[in-house]
Amino acid sequence: MVRNDSFYDVVIVGAGPAGAAVAFTTAKLGLKTVIVEQMPEPEHRVRCGEFMPGLEEIFRIIPEKGDFFSLLLESERFSTNITREISLVSPFGYERRVNFGAYVIDRRRYVQWMVGKAVDMGAELLLNTRCVQLEIGGEGVRGVVVKRKGGDQKVLKGNVIVGADGADSSVAKQGSMFRSYGDLDLVTTRQYVMENFLGDEDVCRMYIGQDYSPGAYAWIIPKGEGTINVGTGIRKPYLRSGDTLRGCLQRFIKDHPQASNLLKDATVKGVISAHVPVGGSLEKTFWKNVLLVGDAAGQVIVHVGAGMPPAIIAGEIAGQTITKYLEGNTPLSDYEKIWKSIMQKPIKNGLYIRKLWDKIAHNDKKAEKFLKIIRQGMLEKMIRAKIPITVRLFAPIITKIL
Ligand SMILES: Cc1cc2nc3c(=O)[nH]c(=O)nc-3n(C[C@H](O)[C@H](O)[C@H](O)COP(=O)(O)OP(=O)(O)OC[C@H]3O[C@@H](n4cnc5c(N)ncnc54)[C@H](O)[C@@H]3O)c2cc1C
Repeated sequence: MVRNDSFYDVVIVGAGPAGAAVAFTTAKLGLKTVIVEQMPEPEHRVRCGEFMPGLEEIFRIIPEKGDFFSLLLESERFSTNITREISLVSPFGYERRVNFGAYVIDRRRYVQWMVGKAVDMGAELLLNTRCVQLEIGGEGVRGVVVKRKGGDQKVLKGNVIVGADGADSSVAKQGSMFRSYGDLDLVTTRQYVMENFLGDEDVCRMYIGQDYSPGAYAWIIPKGEGTINVGTGIRKPYLRSGDTLRGCLQRFIKDHPQASNLLKDATVKGVISAHVPVGGSLEKTFWKNVLLVGDAAGQVIVHVGAGMPPAIIAGEIAGQTITKYLEGNTPLSDYEKIWKSIMQKPIKNGLYIRKLWDKIAHNDKKAEKFLKIIRQGMLEKMIRAKIPITVRLFAPIITKIL
């Protein structure tokens, strides 16, 4: 039975970082807001390394333009550890380091804080509730059909619908905006939370190599007090026949010459598995009265898999644009104009670097050579989603001669 009873200014599907940022902003600006989340609580299972660039780094990567960074700036309050360096380790153990100030945050607390504030300011939060369908009609989407676990379906009608429902966004699919993923455009990940880590806690470590992270990278991110997020990613075309994601992570922990040493006393406390969309942002992130935000819109800086900062910035942009739109001051399409003016460049550059990497990643010797010959200044730029002119000019030659 479909009951039809509620009307909102904005209906938000998904209470991850993107949906939480939209809800906080629209509730603060006085809009009647509802958030629909399929899980029993926001961030019920944290599917993230929780690595968040420090403010100085954020503004190097995403130039501060407009008033869209306030929620991102709050992330610092939820940090459990500060890291100062990124270490990049080649398949044969060659290591490069880059100074890079970052926080490791307690993501569950951070996202739940945003959602909690939204609720305090009047938003409604529907948990254990899944968006099953968009109700399309008239000038656009009239509402969202939702189903509560074990309960009835009902329709949440809204002036604006926000798809903040992650990489496999059902809102994007039904709103004709979804772009199916090519094999190279999706990283599948598996991550453990582990305790009793023995290494430095001010270094975030990234490891490349066919044995451990084919087509992507493995990571050790220290959360502080000996707790770490340890994970790996793979892309299908790079995975050897018969190998598995689970096998890659086990090998990384047990056999990697450096990591196995650092992890020899570490014990597993939790496990998650999830996808990271690495195909770049969608061409269209609005359709009629529907906006896509975060992973649903492909807003990830893909060569490093950084999706939280773009999701939260885009969430604020969406919230502010929706408010102005409902006041009659601006078209909804401004959302796309604004987020692209701020974030499209680093997102595109990340995709460029990923595509360069695609040509090297299948061969460990090439990958090692690349890490050896790249100048420090260039490496630092590329980590920050900038493409050195030499790399842009000589990329085809570099990938051939390695
Ligand atoms: C293993 C891993 C490690 C990562 N590490 C980092 C990192 O260290 N730093 C970083 O910046 N980024 C990292 N990322 C990327 C980052 O986690 C994502 O980019 C970010 O979570 C995107 O936020 P989002 O709100 O758009 O989507 P999500 O976090 O995926 O949230 C979507 C929400 O929508 C809900 N939902 C989905 N469908 C429905 C539906 N039909 N109805 C109701 N609710 C629905 C989901 O339950 C979920 O709560 C990592 C990703 C992975 C997988």
